Amino acid sequence: MERRDFLKVMGASIATVATSSLPLSFLETANAASVNSIIRLPESDTARFAWTVDDGCSHDAVKSYINFVAENDLRLTFFVYGTVSPWQTNAKLLKPFVESGQIQLANHTMHHPLLTKLTAKQVQKELMDCHNFMERRFGIDAKPYYRPPYGGINAQVIDAAAQIGYTKPMLWSGTLADSGKVRSAKFMSLAKQGIRDRGIVLGHANNMVAPNHFDRLLDIVNSRGLSTVTLTDAFEV
Ligand SMILES: [Zn+2]
Repeated sequence: MERRDFLKVMGASIATVATSSLPLSFLETANAASVNSIIRLPESDTARFAWTVDDGCSHDAVKSYINFVAENDLRLTFFVYGTVSPWQTNAKLLKPFVESGQIQLANHTMHHPLLTKLTAKQVQKELMDCHNFMERRFGIDAKPYYRPPYGGINAQVIDAAAQIGYTKPMLWSGTLADSGKVRSAKFMSLAKQGIRDRGIVLGHANNMVAPNHFDRLLDIVNSRGLSTVTLTDAFEV
């Protein structure tokens, strides 16, 4: 992702935080989408967070994440950008983890468009093309979880997606800001903020920034007594 896209993601993240502090009655009339987008996990007796990783533009990064999850007994959700090749080149390695449920695949659209610029039919096609790819290649039904590219979402997108069974629009509570290159200090600072109980952490498999920091990320997870869960683990659907 380019800096332009990164800024859009940050903008969406800030907007989410800002609107979440408004009274519900205001949100229901002003922006139904903000009410329905999910940015936190449900409460639980155990301290846990959802590690979610988007796109998958780098073969090496996708592969590193899979091996990291396997070696450390973690649970993770990939939001698959359907047309990028690392989902094909890593499919054989990935499939057993998808089948066991240790790694969940969710929908990040086929071509990564800003969904708010599309018609309802186009939104549905973007989701279903990615859905069908994951079904064909990995034998799974990815519904009901999707993440709109750049965090771009509104009531029309939510309605269009819900009509085809994509009823859980997933945003995030903390971002690692690594869709493009990010400096190590900033990355670690964001990780310390984002990795916390009930968090939904947004990372990317587009470069080796996160893999180069896996040991340090794991230290944060372990020192805070957190376990990792997939979205299905947390929401039980
Ligand atoms: Zn993305």
